[in-house]
Amino acid sequence: MDCRGQSNPALPLPIASRGEDLYGSNWSLAAIANLAAFLFYPPPYILRSPMTRARVLLLTAALGPLDYRVPYGSEAPLGSVVVAPLGPRKMGGVVWEDSAFGAPEAVGDNRLRNLYEVVPVPPVPAPLRRLVEWTSDYYLAPPGAVLRMVLPGAAFSDARRPIVEYRATGALPARMTPQRSVALEKIGERQGMVRELAALAEVSDAVIRGLVNAGALEAVSVAADAPYPEPDPGFAPPDLSDEQAASAAQLRDAVTAAKFETLLLDGVTGSGKTEVYMEAIAAAVEAGRQTLVLLPEIALTEPMLTRFAARFGCEPVPWHSGLRATERRRAWHAIASGEAKIVVGARSALFLPYAKLGLIVVDEAHETSFKQEDGVHYHARDVAVMRGHFEGLPVVLASATPALESLAMVEAGRYRHIELPARFGGATLPDLTAIDMRQDPPDRGTWLAPPLVAALADRLQKGEQSLLFLNRRGFAPLTLCRTCGHRIQCPNCTAWMVEHRLVHRLACHHCGHVMPPPRLCPECEDEDSLVACGPGVERVADEVGLRFPEARVAIVTSDTLWSPAKAAEFVDNVEGGLVDIIIGTQLVTKGYHFPNLTLVGVVDADLGLDGGDLRASERTFQQIAQVAGRAGRGVKPGEVLIQTRVPDAPVMAALVANDRNGFYAAEAAARKFAGAPPYGRFAALVISSEDIEIARGVAQRLGAKAPVAEGLAVYGPAPAPLAMLRGRHRFRLLLHAPRSFDLQGTIRAWVDSIEWPTKARLAIDIDPYSFV
Ligand code: ADP
Ligand code: ZN
Repeated sequence: MDCRGQSNPALPLPIASRGEDLYGSNWSLAAIANLAAFLFYPPPYILRSPMTRARVLLLTAALGPLDYRVPYGSEAPLGSVVVAPLGPRKMGGVVWEDSAFGAPEAVGDNRLRNLYEVVPVPPVPAPLRRLVEWTSDYYLAPPGAVLRMVLPGAAFSDARRPIVEYRATGALPARMTPQRSVALEKIGERQGMVRELAALAEVSDAVIRGLVNAGALEAVSVAADAPYPEPDPGFAPPDLSDEQAASAAQLRDAVTAAKFETLLLDGVTGSGKTEVYMEAIAAAVEAGRQTLVLLPEIALTEPMLTRFAARFGCEPVPWHSGLRATERRRAWHAIASGEAKIVVGARSALFLPYAKLGLIVVDEAHETSFKQEDGVHYHARDVAVMRGHFEGLPVVLASATPALESLAMVEAGRYRHIELPARFGGATLPDLTAIDMRQDPPDRGTWLAPPLVAALADRLQKGEQSLLFLNRRGFAPLTLCRTCGHRIQCPNCTAWMVEHRLVHRLACHHCGHVMPPPRLCPECEDEDSLVACGPGVERVADEVGLRFPEARVAIVTSDTLWSPAKAAEFVDNVEGGLVDIIIGTQLVTKGYHFPNLTLVGVVDADLGLDGGDLRASERTFQQIAQVAGRAGRGVKPGEVLIQTRVPDAPVMAALVANDRNGFYAAEAAARKFAGAPPYGRFAALVISSEDIEIARGVAQRLGAKAPVAEGLAVYGPAPAPLAMLRGRHRFRLLLHAPRSFDLQGTIRAWVDSIEWPTKARLAIDIDPYSFV
């Protein structure tokens, strides 16, 4: 993890140290020979202008900055994007200040290698370089790994060079195999490079090439990247209510002031937060500046694009992992040139090199999916605020259920609080009622209690829509043997295999391992003894199908809404009245606005309370408040039924009493008492290895050297709750400290104090959200 002070392994060994003892006291013959050599073969800097060295931060996690020579005749000012030699390879990088990241080993001019190329794209601006440094420093991540988020591959692909993509011709190949037919079906109308289509269809590149040769796919040249249309701030501005107008004016002023400020746009679901922050975006467009809107899920980008198009006359520029290579290249270059005025994206859009950024909006800012859980473990909401700080621009955090962290910043006077307490257009907030599952249990083998079944029947009869929320994908979370009690576990992870009945598979939700459902118990080999335990959304859908055969059901999970196009199709179907009952995971809890949806049923409200996570209550509150917010958004009022076994738990009581402030106050008091975030800090260290003894050994050595300091507590090492993940054994150490404690410095020194075997990996998670 320490990546400072490494020398370039590609450099040749030092040749003669010419002139080294020139001014020493002993004039040896060798020294005189050296002086002669110096006079006859003067080093280049005597003849030419001073040689230009450039310190370059390369796009690799393994190395710190290295020095290179800028070829004679070129220029590489700070921030320049370059391609440099690294051993036998070429690697991208950015010219950086000498002062950052500590000095690499001094390398003499004569040992420097030439940069290959200064890439003709705008230099990475200084504020973004500061953000990369800050992120690396705060999250203890290699700066090169952070820089990769600024410069994805798209940055190096020439925007003018055409790329060949393929799409279906509609003709079927003469020789049709089941594999080819499935591949063509999965590709559908989509277009992409061979590699992309192969990934999409889950086949090898060769299968795609075969389809090209057979005439089923044809080449399309995606030429010069077309410019994006300009959003028109005056295209269709809404008639804001007085309350909305007052909030919008504050946001507009913040954009015009072009100064750093964080504004918490805190409004109940359906209050018009999106309409209000779009006014701020309009102000940024008017000022000729770019806006970045961060969303917690890719699935939300598509409906958002449509919504923006209705307001600004054209779609904004999307950025997320689902883009094709050509789309990425087009978007990256437009972002770096300043041409992309409004960018809507997932957290990976945060580090892109916007040329003229004027505003950042983090929508659904309380969402924990803004926290990245692998690679650089950063929190996009927090880094967004830091970006606003370095670039001197306003950052808007929009949420109906803000994170306790954000509310604490309001209380401390650091964030401006902008509130929208009422729904727009007179729509009322739905009524929440708890169904006590101990008193009103569902029939055996079913999951919906009688009051919820009755409410569903009532909506069906009235032609209104319902939503059942259960945060569990698949059919059943566990399969066990009735005879011997064996539970089917993932071979690579400490996790049960989840049954996905629609695709006839058991799947691990951690590593993606899949297998066909076995007929015999793998342990006792008893036949037909395996039973599904507990419900997932598919099982609830089965029950709904049995109870209401005429109902049209949509299952909404990452398995069914795996592309923006699928998400758009889902929205169209619901809006078009083609769906009666939506059954979904957290994917349906936010963003959507379906006016005819009047009933929300929470199938298992207690699900998120297990597991001992410090934010369990807060998350449960947010999730249920959000999903409740989908009900009654139009003229018809909404109703929310919450199935729980603990109706008296403070979080359930607060939800039912609509007592948000009471809940937050109690939660804040409990956290303060425990010194938990935002009033204290945690950091987690996870040591992993394929070899359990290596992982345990490192964890123990680290544990033996645990830092001792006033206020600091170190827990562990202990096997992580997810003791094995993707075939790696995991041990955890957890640090707990007061807010002001220098956790990063402590961890840095601690981790450097032991020897690290190459087979052990360390993941550091500052401000962790996941405790597995
Ligand atoms: P939130 O983001 O707070 O949940 P939205 O911005 O999605 O709320 O607004 C809820 C619904 O009300 C949306 O359909 C939106 O278009 C509509 N709406 C909100 N404010 C206005 C307004 N001033 N004029 C017209 N429609 C509005
Ligand atoms: Zn697994």
